[in-house]
Amino acid sequence: MSENENPVPIKPQKSLDFIRKKILEDVKNGRNHGQVTTRFPPEPNGYLHIGHAKSICLNFGVAAEYGGVCHLRFDDTNPEKEDQEYIESIQEDVQWLGFDWDRHLYCSSDYFEKFYQYAIELIQRGKAYVCSLSPQETREYRGTLTRPGKDSPYRTRSVEENLDLFKRMRQGEFPDGTCALRAKINMAHPNIAMRDPALYRIRHAAHHRTDRQWCIYPMYDFAHCLSDSIEKITHSLCTLEFEDRRPLYDWILDALEVECHPQQVEFARLSLTYTILSKRKLLHLVNDKHVSGWDDPRMPTISGLRRRGVPPEAIRNFCGHIGVDKTNSIIDIGMLEYYVREYLNKKSPRVMVVLRPLKVVIDNYPNDQVEELEAENNPEDPRTGTRKVPFSRVIYIEQEDFQENPPPKYFRLVPGREVRLKHAYYITCQNIVKDETTGEIIELHCSYDPESRGGGTPDGRKVKSTLHWVSAAHALDIEVNMCDHLFSKPNPEKVEEGTDFKDNLNPHSLLRLKACKAEPGLEGASPGNRYQFLRHGYFCVDPDSMKDNLIFNRTVSLRDTWVKIKQKTK
Ligand code: ATP
Ligand code: MG
Repeated sequence: MSENENPVPIKPQKSLDFIRKKILEDVKNGRNHGQVTTRFPPEPNGYLHIGHAKSICLNFGVAAEYGGVCHLRFDDTNPEKEDQEYIESIQEDVQWLGFDWDRHLYCSSDYFEKFYQYAIELIQRGKAYVCSLSPQETREYRGTLTRPGKDSPYRTRSVEENLDLFKRMRQGEFPDGTCALRAKINMAHPNIAMRDPALYRIRHAAHHRTDRQWCIYPMYDFAHCLSDSIEKITHSLCTLEFEDRRPLYDWILDALEVECHPQQVEFARLSLTYTILSKRKLLHLVNDKHVSGWDDPRMPTISGLRRRGVPPEAIRNFCGHIGVDKTNSIIDIGMLEYYVREYLNKKSPRVMVVLRPLKVVIDNYPNDQVEELEAENNPEDPRTGTRKVPFSRVIYIEQEDFQENPPPKYFRLVPGREVRLKHAYYITCQNIVKDETTGEIIELHCSYDPESRGGGTPDGRKVKSTLHWVSAAHALDIEVNMCDHLFSKPNPEKVEEGTDFKDNLNPHSLLRLKACKAEPGLEGASPGNRYQFLRHGYFCVDPDSMKDNLIFNRTVSLRDTWVKIKQKTK
């Protein structure tokens, strides 16, 4: 990868994180014959989000760094919430992020028969039993953090009885919730996860891959460690909330004396300000139509970020910068935006677009003259050369670039003042035309200095501001979605009593501007193309665009909030 594609992070590259240190140590010591095999194990019950990207970058990243492989495994043991749509989107997103599972694509549901045989083995070893307590009773027997649990009266069932009942569970003899297979560990264990946790439950539900073949489904804790073991994963990297369940992960693998016993290592999950990273809550937003779908450009999903124009390189650079840690913290969204800007600044062609047009007639410019003015495509990358932009007597400028009664320190166009038009001429405002009934300014009349072509004058006159513009006769009509943070609170998960996270939605997160004017060079732009609109920020063509109706999403503004944040916290 060239230096351009992988910019230097603002903080110096940290030394190896604790996970990489551990893996390096294991490789050096010849543990697992020096092999490194990791996995990214999403549950196909929603679209991936930026939090998953952290896990993807870590799992695929370390595998690549240590010459290993990373599996993509669908953790599909929960029939009700899973769907083929999610399976497909997850694969698309991982690939788009730039990672490759090669031939290592797996599904936990492929191991259902193996899991069942392992469960039989546990029963035979006297380490699991069929419990017929109701869900309510099970909760009561479990105890609390301060009170030990109580043994289930079914805990002493014989191996034969357990085998018989478990087989009948599989055959569909019992309704949902009437019994469960539980590990026989210790009901007084200080760690509640170890108080005879459920391993299998009854669910008479069709699974998107195995259909009605099964009516019992393994619990996450049983399926996950065994899937890791079956696939000979060496390092099972997961988020901190699984720390309490590591003893159970190890207990199951020890109890079964499996050939491969992977190590579970936990790291902090990603949280971002102004963002919610929970598939369940994101699904709510989709179902309740607060957003247009999982790929709404305001969503923190990978597909939303893609639609918004965030490049995969920026996500990878961001994940590389935040690194992995052992304590949870909330990252400022400004940092993600910093990496997006940093990448787009180097890569995006510049164009002039007027979002809220104000007509300007240049009275002393010849009526039928059109000049093709030279404009640089990207000052950050001179190799991108220049383009021609047409200039004529009637142009549009931004409404906010003119003020009849300017406040102090307003340096843009005002009556009688001279400003520069980018790549073009100096103009001076001579006259204002207003709508007679509303008083609204509908047109400006200006003069131009023919000597100032290209942005300077022979007498070296200085002007205080440079405006972008578009020639009216040549302008392309486009639509622009000004996307902002989806939530208005830095921590939208924090809710006051009687409210929920949806009350923290930002009512101004999407502003649709339908009558924007763009320079003609944008004609032919296609979905996914990214540009810098001068003075406005970075924008990307939406997939719903049509040839004669271009729609752009604002990826990020030009303002670099992250730099400000850094200065403030110094
Ligand atoms: P959610 O809470 O959004 O539903 P999840 O943890 O249930 O997420 P999974 O599909 O189980 O989603 O996640 C797949 C992997 O991604 C897991 O290993 C999980 O630990 C990791 N992951 C999920 N969210 C984050 C996050 N915010 N930061 C880092 N890793 C995450
Ligand atoms: Mg999960």
